[in-house]
Order: sequence, then structure tokens, then C-alpha cells
Amino acid sequence: MATHLLPTGIQRWPEIHPTTQAAFNQVLWHGGLPRTEIARKLGLSRTRLTAITRDLEAAGLLVEGGREQRSTTGRPAEMLHAVTTAYQFLGLHLHGSSVIAALVDLDGRVVWEDRATLDTESPDELVDVAGEMLRKASATFRVAAVAICGPLARVGLDTASARIRAVDRGHQDRFEREWSVPLWVDDDVIALTAFEQWPQLADGQDSMVLISVGEEIGFGIVTDRRIMRGARNAAGRFDHIPVLADGPRCPLGHDGCLWSVCSTTAVHGAVPDAGSLTEIAARAEAGDELAAVVLERAAAGLGTAAGHLVNLLDPDKLVLTGESHTVLRGRIETFRSALRATHLGGLEVEVDMPEFDFVEWARAAAALALYRCLSADPF
Ligand SMILES: [Zn+2]
Repeated sequence: MATHLLPTGIQRWPEIHPTTQAAFNQVLWHGGLPRTEIARKLGLSRTRLTAITRDLEAAGLLVEGGREQRSTTGRPAEMLHAVTTAYQFLGLHLHGSSVIAALVDLDGRVVWEDRATLDTESPDELVDVAGEMLRKASATFRVAAVAICGPLARVGLDTASARIRAVDRGHQDRFEREWSVPLWVDDDVIALTAFEQWPQLADGQDSMVLISVGEEIGFGIVTDRRIMRGARNAAGRFDHIPVLADGPRCPLGHDGCLWSVCSTTAVHGAVPDAGSLTEIAARAEAGDELAAVVLERAAAGLGTAAGHLVNLLDPDKLVLTGESHTVLRGRIETFRSALRATHLGGLEVEVDMPEFDFVEWARAAAALALYRCLSADPF
């Protein structure tokens, strides 16, 4: 990777031809590619590829990275690398009245973080905070777009949902006029789904189901390489499916729905004197019978719900995120056995459980801004 001074400021992602963008994306996803591979993947002539790479080099987006031995031909190949530090993308995640922000490079690496607390319910304040964070970040980085994400599409009790719903097209247009870069507003589970799916497009991942465990349980669905949003932007409300006969009752009046056994709110409710989910997991590990029973029930419920989704959609992969890793640590077999019991006669499905911390939501929001800039047909 070439080292150079970082360009700073606020600058839109350049308008480039879709084929040129596709060539850049291939290099980005693969962490570098030989010229011949790019031409092969996109069906380009040598002349066309030369013109495209020249444009990308002139835009500061590609650099030649020396020669690499390729096992297929035995000859050294001329490598091209994406300049992943050329632009940054800012994501804000809203939870209640708190905002966590992350700035990512083109490869999704977090390079800057910030946080703020909102004083009012006004969407103007939220958009102003986004502008202020953009101003701060652009002193050191070149920022191409901003996204605000939160519980937009869920039927939640989170006070952030009213705030983020109030940010309308008018706010976005004003922001773009003032700052010259786009502002997107989207649901946080959609952002997380985009974040997980985008780099996998290179490997031909057509479908995926993402399950995010938290105070609510969010579902992100990718079919035929597109994020499924539904006719009314409300697809993926699967958190109240029945999973346990005679289970506890949820606030909507269901007995034994997924929310009632697996949401962090419900798990806390079932172990009332524990401070955090991590503490409940630690107690279960130390032999506390109640904590263990509650988490086993959560793991099994999650497996049952996942099994129904696999029956319905037959995805390439399941991604378990949010607090899934806390609920399932040491209980992955309980999850898998409930999944197998529900899944009707198919082959075993791949399950991914990435590490997750509080910055991940903001990182996903930033990745959504990146995805929308670099993808001709985002979703
Ligand atoms: Zn319910």
C-alpha cells in the first residue's frame, strides 16, 4: 500500500462510470487483484481495462502494488490495490437519546469515533449533531457521505424510534445543501445487514439472514443479492413468532414468543437481580441454575426461529449478531440442535457469529453510507 498524506475535507464520492466502479469494487473486496483477474471477472478487453485503471489511478483510488506470484499461471502478476484511505464515511447510531458515531475507511476499518447526548426530541438537533461531527471528522479525513441509523422499522419502545422517524426528506435535502455530501437515514438492522453482505458480494453470496439480539430482535434478509425491505419497509418482523409452548408472556400478550425468551429485556426480567447480560452469562457459567435455564431457553428459542427462517428462505448463511454471542457462548450446540429440529431435511446451514461491541452499530451505519456511494443498485 502506498503511503501518502491523507486528503482532508468534505468531498462527495466521485461520479464514475458503473463499469469503472465495478472494477474498483472488485479490487476493494479482494484486497488487491492482478489486472488480468479484473478483466476476466468483468469481461473487459485489455484496452478498456487500461483506460479504467488509468482513471482510477488518476482519481487516487487505485495504486499498483508490485508483482505477486499467481499459482494459476506461474508467472508474476501485476497487482492493483485500492487506496482504502482515499475517502471516509461517517455513521451515527441513535439509541434512546445517545448518539455514537464512527468514521470508516473504504475497507470498513474504524478510524475515528465520537459520541453525543441529545437534549431534545427535535430531529433538527439530531441533524445538527451529524453536521457538527462531520465538521470535526473532516478536519483530519476526507468524508464522502453520512448516514444516521436507529430503530426506524421496528415496532419498538426505544425513544430513538420517534426521533429518527421525524427526520424527513426536507432535513436530508437541507443537510446536503449545507454540507455538499448526502445524508441517509435508515433502519439500523438494514445497516447491519448491508455491512455483512456488501463485502460478500464478491464471493457470490446471494442470500443471508441476519439476526440481531438486543432489547428487540431484528431480522435482516438478503435474497438474490438484495436486502429485502418489504412493500411498507417493514419486512423482517419475526421476533414474536411462537418458539416455546407455555413460555413467558411478552408485552404484546404472546405466550412463549421469541421476544419473550430471547430479547435481552426478557432475559433480564427472568433473572431480576442481575445487572447485565454479561453478568447473567457469568452466573450461568459459575453454576447458577436460574441463569443457566434462562439462557438455555433463549438459545433454543433462537435456534427454533432460525430454523423457521431457513425453511422459508434457504439462505447461503445465517449471521447472528448483537448480543447473540453473549446468549450463545457455550450454548451453540443448544442453538444448533433446536435449528436442526425445526429445519426440514436440508443440508446444514453455515452460521457466522461475528464479535460485536457498542461501536459496531455506528460502524454499520458508516458502512451503509459507503455501500450507498459505491453500489449502483444498493437496495
Ligand atoms: Zn410476543
